[in-house]
Amino acid sequence: VKKIGLLTSGGDAPGMNAAIRAVVRTCVYHNIECIGIYRGYQGMIEGDFETMDARSVNNIINRGGTILKSARSSEFRTKEGRQKAYQHLKNAGVDAFVVIGGDGSFTGAMIFNEEFDFPVMGIPGTIDNDIYGTTFTLGYDTALNTVVEAIDKIRDTASSHNRLFFVEVMGRDAGDIALNAGIGAGAEEILIPEEDLGLERLLESLESSRKRGKTSSIVVVAEGDKTAGKSVFELKEYVNENLPDYDVRVSVLGHMQRGGSPSCYDRVLASRMGVKAVETLLDGKSTYMVGVACDKMILTPLEDAVKGKSEIDQELLRVSDIVTI
Ligand code: ATP
Repeated sequence: VKKIGLLTSGGDAPGMNAAIRAVVRTCVYHNIECIGIYRGYQGMIEGDFETMDARSVNNIINRGGTILKSARSSEFRTKEGRQKAYQHLKNAGVDAFVVIGGDGSFTGAMIFNEEFDFPVMGIPGTIDNDIYGTTFTLGYDTALNTVVEAIDKIRDTASSHNRLFFVEVMGRDAGDIALNAGIGAGAEEILIPEEDLGLERLLESLESSRKRGKTSSIVVVAEGDKTAGKSVFELKEYVNENLPDYDVRVSVLGHMQRGGSPSCYDRVLASRMGVKAVETLLDGKSTYMVGVACDKMILTPLEDAVKGKSEIDQELLRVSDIVTI
C-alpha cells in the first residue's frame, strides 16, 4: 500500500476530525501518501479528492463535525456508481481506503472490497455506540457528556416548577446513550428500546416517587424506545391523563447531541484508531474494523461488525434499576 484514501460517511460524530488527523499523520510517519475524499462515497464517485499532509490537519483535533464533510450516496449502492468510484481511485493511484462511519458505510466498503479486491478498513464513528466489535464508537463519549450537561440544566428548571420532564435523547436502535446519560444525570426512569418497562411500571414508579416526596422528575427516553408502542409525546399525554398532579413536559435534545468539541477520551480513541487502521493496511491486512475492548485496540472483520449485534450491558441495567429507586 502506497496511497491511502480517507473518507467520512453517514452521520457525523465528534472525534471524526481527530481520526482524520491521526490517519493522515500515520501515513506521513510511514512515508506513504494520503488522499482526502470529500462528501463520503458521493465524493469518491465524483473524484472530489485532495492530497493531505501533516499540516492540512493542523488545529482540527478539537473540532466537532468532519472537515472532509459527510454525505449519504444512493449512487454508491449501484454497481455503476461503485465502478465510477473505483476508476477515480485508480486514476489517482489510491490503492486502499479507510472509511470512518457506521455500519452502512462498512457494508459499502465490504461490497467494494469484494467487487474490486480493493483493501479497505473501517473506523466506527457514530454517537449511538451501536456497532458490534468495539466497546466504544467515536463520538459516543462526547455525546454522553453533552446529554448529561443538558439534563442537568433541565433538572434546574424541573425542580423549580415541580415538573416531570421526558427528555428524548438519540439512539434509534440502541439505548446506550439513554442508559449511561440517565445514570450519570440521576434520572428517575430510563426508557430504552432493548427493554420495555411497560406503562404500568412507569406510572407506579412515578407515583411512588411522588409519594416519597419527589416533586420533580426526569425520565430519559431513547429515540427508538417504544414503551407500549408509544412515542415520547404519547407517553406525556398518557402520564398527564393518569397522574394529573404532575405538570409534564417533553424536551427533545435533537442534533445538538451530535455536535461540539470532542471529549479527551474521544480524541485519544480517535488517535489510536487512526494509527491502528493505517498500520493494519500496511501489515497487508484488509476488511477489518478497528475497535477497543478492555482498553486494547482490536480488529473485527467488517462482516462481523455489520452483522453482529451490540448488546446492552446487563450489569448497567441492574445498576440503573437500583440507583433510580
Ligand atoms: P449512521 O450510523 O450515521 O447511519 P452509516 O454509515 O450507517 O452511519 P448509512 O447512511 O447507512 O450511514 O450509510 C452511509 C453510506 O454508505 C450510504 O449513503 C451509501 O453510500 C453507503 N452504503 C450503505 N449501505 C450500502 C450498501 N448496501 N451497498 C453499498 N453502499 C452502501
